Amino acid sequence: MLGPKAYEPNRDIYSPNRNIAPISSEINESEKLIVGGCQLSELAKTYGTPLYVFDELSLRTACKTYIDSLNKHYPGDSLPLYASKANSSLAICALIASEGFGLDAVSEGELLTALKGGVKGENIVFHGNNKSHDELNFAYKNNVTIVIDNHHDIELLKIIASEKKPAKLMLRFTPGIECHTHEYIRTGHLDSKFGFDPDDVKSVLEELKTYDWAKLTGLHAHIGSQIFEVQPHIDLAGVMADTLKLAKEIGHSIVDLNLGGGLGIKYVQEDNPPSIEEWVEVVSKAVVKACGERNLDLPRLMCEPGRSLVANSGLTIYQIGAKKVVPGIRTYLSVDGGMSDNPRPITYQSLYSACLVDKPLNLNLEKVTIAGKHCESGDVLLKDFYLPSCESGDFLAVFGTGAYNYSMSSNYNRIPRPATVIVGEGCVELTQRRELPEDLLQLDVLPDRFITKN
Ligand SMILES: *Cc1c(COP(=O)(O)O)cnc(C)c1O
Repeated sequence: MLGPKAYEPNRDIYSPNRNIAPISSEINESEKLIVGGCQLSELAKTYGTPLYVFDELSLRTACKTYIDSLNKHYPGDSLPLYASKANSSLAICALIASEGFGLDAVSEGELLTALKGGVKGENIVFHGNNKSHDELNFAYKNNVTIVIDNHHDIELLKIIASEKKPAKLMLRFTPGIECHTHEYIRTGHLDSKFGFDPDDVKSVLEELKTYDWAKLTGLHAHIGSQIFEVQPHIDLAGVMADTLKLAKEIGHSIVDLNLGGGLGIKYVQEDNPPSIEEWVEVVSKAVVKACGERNLDLPRLMCEPGRSLVANSGLTIYQIGAKKVVPGIRTYLSVDGGMSDNPRPITYQSLYSACLVDKPLNLNLEKVTIAGKHCESGDVLLKDFYLPSCESGDFLAVFGTGAYNYSMSSNYNRIPRPATVIVGEGCVELTQRRELPEDLLQLDVLPDRFITKN
């Protein structure tokens, strides 16, 4: 058996997070890869590369599966929120809102995108461990629910909110739950920069009760990202129900219980995450049980999927350029993007899967390393990967790039960001235009005295 290699057929069309490629992917009679009814090599020729491609069917299916599963397995009200830091754009915000999702945001930029994309303020939750006065004011004015993360938030809101229009608040605390994921994306353990320490929760709840400008309606915890086990979320339901009970005793009327996001996705063949329905079922039953044991009314259940909604809906098309063979060691194929459009491999050593869009079948495989074009030796997208023999000019699709690629992208080396298109039923629409080198100069200011006169 060879190592990691190219395209594999989809398995679970109801849970896009369990397939490497978008669920509408198919290989046509001439053995070319089609997504959303569009031939990827044609998209690359029309829109240029690198190109982010979103499959509308995968995105809508993931949304529908979350909503249907909540309706099926949770007897109370529910509202899933899209964690928009995974990929924030007008088109995606509008799409998830049309599917009945609310949204969570962590900056004024994400709030603005969501509001302009048509998400209602009352369906938005605002997070962050260091929100500024202006950000809080913007959220407050737009009727967004603010997640109190620390005392700094409380001090700023004292200035902003009034008795006439109390701020709608959720309280975030660290539940003290460990899960197996990358250190940088773990948030539930006690040594985390996010949320109140569990030992402080009681006094904060008591403090909030004394303010007439504060209306605490929810509790929040988020334990991490790319999680494949379900046990941490079962434990979390218990911890949150305890806190719900405490808040009730102190006199708060809490209606929302928000268990955060974190469901993992399939990046490579070995990954085997739970399905969206399994995850929702486990979380729902755990909340029902935990509330039952404590004689609590069922809260409105909120969850905040990011990655599991968008990652496998997206892929990136690159064009292969230079080839360098280091005899007996490695063959480098360089593509026209890299760490500026996908910083995950260099940041988290993340693994991806890829295939040649016009030679998707696993024939005549050769071991190659796909390198980006940036001035860092670590700018490698796929190391020791198997692809059919290919040449300069071929197009490569890297799967699972819909989450935390565009949103973490940069202009390192002053490389413009790719365009984004959304595909479905044979149609393609541009949702983000490609940046141009001139766009990168727009915010530069050159003081007169620096201009060389000759
Ligand atoms: C990152 C984050 C999420 C989303 O996590 P995913 O793993 O992408 O589902 C949800 N809630 C909060 C508070 C987060 O920080």
